[in-house]
Amino acid sequence: MPTITLPEREIPVIGDYDVVVAGGGPGGIPAAVAAARAGAKTLLIERYGYLGGMATAGLIAVILGIKASGTDEPMMGGIGEELCREMHSIGGAPEYEVAVERGGLSFDPETFKLVSDAMVLGTGVDLRLHSWAVDTIVEDGLVSALVLESKSGRQAVTGRVFIDATGDGDLVWQAGADFTHGREFDGAMMAMGSMFVFSGVDQERLPTGDEHDALLERAQQAVTAGEINAYNPRWGRNPLNPGWDRTVPGRRANEYVANATRFAGDCTDVEDLTRGEVQVRRDTWDLIDWWRRNVPGMENAYLVQSPPHIGLRESRQMVGHDIVTGEDVVEARTREDAVARCPYWIDIHCPLGRTKNSTHLCYKKCPNDPPCAIYEERYEDLPGNADDEHREGLYPKDGLWFDIPWGSLVSADIPNLLAAGRNISADHHAMSALRVMGTCMAIGEAAGEGAAMAADSQDAAAIDVPELQRRLRANGAAV
Ligand SMILES: Cc1cc2nc3c(=O)[nH]c(=O)nc-3n(C[C@H](O)[C@H](O)[C@H](O)COP(=O)(O)OP(=O)(O)OC[C@H]3O[C@@H](n4cnc5c(N)ncnc54)[C@H](O)[C@@H]3O)c2cc1C
Repeated sequence: MPTITLPEREIPVIGDYDVVVAGGGPGGIPAAVAAARAGAKTLLIERYGYLGGMATAGLIAVILGIKASGTDEPMMGGIGEELCREMHSIGGAPEYEVAVERGGLSFDPETFKLVSDAMVLGTGVDLRLHSWAVDTIVEDGLVSALVLESKSGRQAVTGRVFIDATGDGDLVWQAGADFTHGREFDGAMMAMGSMFVFSGVDQERLPTGDEHDALLERAQQAVTAGEINAYNPRWGRNPLNPGWDRTVPGRRANEYVANATRFAGDCTDVEDLTRGEVQVRRDTWDLIDWWRRNVPGMENAYLVQSPPHIGLRESRQMVGHDIVTGEDVVEARTREDAVARCPYWIDIHCPLGRTKNSTHLCYKKCPNDPPCAIYEERYEDLPGNADDEHREGLYPKDGLWFDIPWGSLVSADIPNLLAAGRNISADHHAMSALRVMGTCMAIGEAAGEGAAMAADSQDAAAIDVPELQRRLRANGAAV
């Protein structure tokens, strides 16, 4: 590939901070708030014009990871819980206790944006929206500055501790720190895929019982025949989630969120992102069109909103001082240096993007022909792997949780570089669990609090972890 050389130029340094957080999603928001509350001069950078990451830009309307089955122990608490309660206070989410009972908190993404702004700014965080972190400068083994790109041009910001909450490990990659991605044996990452909001459903006329089952079977056949490309072609209220009202009570009463599409690719590759956006958009329209033509009560269904960004499940994982593994998940491993908890399960969306035959997730035997190598080579012996839908063996045992250790948030290469959210140090199996938003928020809070403690030394691995745990607990976090 031909290259060009950019001329050397000077760019303005717009600020100097104790803690710089790049990425304003479920990992980055609590990180910035926690750091500022701990007294650190904090900057939060976000490439979009609003906060929330996948929660808002991905329309991911249910916060999972706030409850472990079989125990009343809190799983998140802290700033994440505060944000959820704030959304409830303005009618954008159910009561927190009700959500915990249900196992997930449904919310209106517009409320998430508003509440995040207020929390971040109300804590004294400096916020820069519409700003991409495009380069990470390392000097003498430490990150010294981030280069930002925006409508104001190219600018830099200096700092003492930097938190990569970009989801994609952009800072880790730019800084030249070690990272992994995807499955251990071929690097393939979980499929991308977009949630979408639809409406125009006559709930009363939707088929039920045998009629519903026969129609769903026809939808699966349409997938197999290539008429539609959806791993989950269900309609109306998602019957996979009985008792869950995916809409916010009193608002968006006839709007539904579907999670149906898949695209295999590398979400750090702009060409894959482009192909993914185009394919997922086409697949969404085809699916709604099929519903309109085939499902009683869906004749007037229409697309209300597709997300501004294709849904991203997995990309780069920073290599940290410690790593969270799939064994940790199924063994419900607890740690001395725990800074967050995750009760969620190994939830891998086919990295090959397959949708046919309704193979939902990798834990089920793949009925595709030829059979998927993943199942043959890697998954056959997993205790939960079976033709049926039971997931035993993929959840933390006995309805417990696994701990996120402090070392998995700290880069093994660069002492003042942390990760917060889905891009912490974890293998493919563990990240498929800890990526849920409740856990990302808990991780974010720990990263921010710990970063503030490391601001003087710039050595995050050396902080007093029991003191960090004490501070987190004092703030209501579940540790
Ligand atoms: C289809 C789908 C369904 C899902 N369903 C659920 C669900 O039901 N419940 C659940 O809890 N979780 C769900 N998830 C997972 C969850 O949404 C994510 O794992 C979670 O949002 C990760 O949070 P994060 O902050 O680590 O990353 P993200 O949410 O990706 O946020 C990263 C932020 O960083 C910003 N950013 C990125 N790069 C840069 C840069 N270079 N400079 C500046 N800013 C940058 C982004 O704009 C974004 O705001 C789902 C995900 C997908 C894709």
